[in-house]
Amino acid sequence: MKIETQCLHAGYTPKNGDPRVVPIVQSTTYTFDSTAHIAALFDMPTEPMYSRFANPTVDAVEKKIAALEGGVAAMCTTSGQAASLLSILNVCKAGDSFISTGTIYGGTVNLFAVTLKRFGIECIFVDQEASREELQKAVKPNTRCVFGETLANPALSVLDIRKFADFAHDNGLPLIIDNTFPTPILCRPKEFGADVVIHSTTKYMDGHAVQGGGVIVDCGTFPWDNGKFPEFTEPDESYHGVCYVREFGNMAYIIKCRMQLMRDFGCYPSATAAFYLNLGLETLAIRMKQYCENAQKVAEFLLARPEVESVSYPGLAGDKYHERAKTYLKDGCSGVISFVIKGGREKAMNWMDSLQLASNVVHVADIRTCVLHPASETHRQLTDEQLVAAGINVGMIRLSVGLENVDDIIADLTHGFESIR
Ligand SMILES: *Cc1c(COP(=O)(O)O)cnc(C)c1O
Repeated sequence: MKIETQCLHAGYTPKNGDPRVVPIVQSTTYTFDSTAHIAALFDMPTEPMYSRFANPTVDAVEKKIAALEGGVAAMCTTSGQAASLLSILNVCKAGDSFISTGTIYGGTVNLFAVTLKRFGIECIFVDQEASREELQKAVKPNTRCVFGETLANPALSVLDIRKFADFAHDNGLPLIIDNTFPTPILCRPKEFGADVVIHSTTKYMDGHAVQGGGVIVDCGTFPWDNGKFPEFTEPDESYHGVCYVREFGNMAYIIKCRMQLMRDFGCYPSATAAFYLNLGLETLAIRMKQYCENAQKVAEFLLARPEVESVSYPGLAGDKYHERAKTYLKDGCSGVISFVIKGGREKAMNWMDSLQLASNVVHVADIRTCVLHPASETHRQLTDEQLVAAGINVGMIRLSVGLENVDDIIADLTHGFESIR
């Protein structure tokens, strides 16, 4: 099936007389005829038995997202943050380190640099434009994985996934990619060598700002029996001696993640949450095309405005990442644009406050156009000097272009510029 068809049909195939739409199985538990059946499920969890780590509605959505990313299996989580956390904890324990590019979502930076550090896991940040020689300097005997973001929020830099995949694999390490902004419609990181793909489904996948969530996709590509990952090949004492690679083959990563981490942490979405996510996924392909088309026009409009100092959008011919986007985002660059307004913080805030159609929200990748001012909102704890160091201009605005008619969006932005004269 092509990806547009997968959005509608992957993950759930109703049998004779079944509901056409994925049903909401809102039950914490499931009944079985015999104790022996339940015992067998503890050996080989092929069916849901308890909704802290599996549920039929969530399962259908997991299968759909795995299909969209070209992976072998997936596991949903209650948020994107939970997906990032579990994707790392599945390979790192106290005393280990891992490598991440520095240009990633701010919440992930805090998780990696502050919270995981408290748990004894060290994140070594690297410049995503660093040479292979420089990257190699970050590798230590205890390095367990490499992490990056396809299209970074809010920097809108495009990652050279192939370079990072080669680097990770040459060191016997898996590459984990946060693919939230492109979604599998615009980029499938597995095709460029990623082993694990994660998402905040709160963004475009849900798309309607109704339900937070996350997902981890196992691409099924990484050789966990390469000698560096004994927890995948040795018996798991917490699960009556199961050896993940031997029992589950190329699904070892995601099954270990579910059986150990989801079992213990329980950050699993409800059936109703998954139902909402599925509605978003059904229209994802068609929505992404329109976001790209609208954002391209809006980016070109902004670039031509005298009040605008600079525009970051990889779809623009002059953008720093335009060439790389031709490889990684050849079907479009999503709907998010960052731009800097002349006159700094105050002008940016005034412009945002004067908008009538676009909403001022702490969100991005919504169906409705929305704006956010990093310097006074998500990054407000930083001084102006620290903001510069973090690559955030005080006049920078993150504009998430929605699916309204683009003429109405441009009229609203024009009104904003006129009212700050
Ligand atoms: C929002 C976001 C996250 C965190 O997701 P939540 O669902 O808010 O927990 C992670 N990565 C990226 C790229 C994001 O934009």
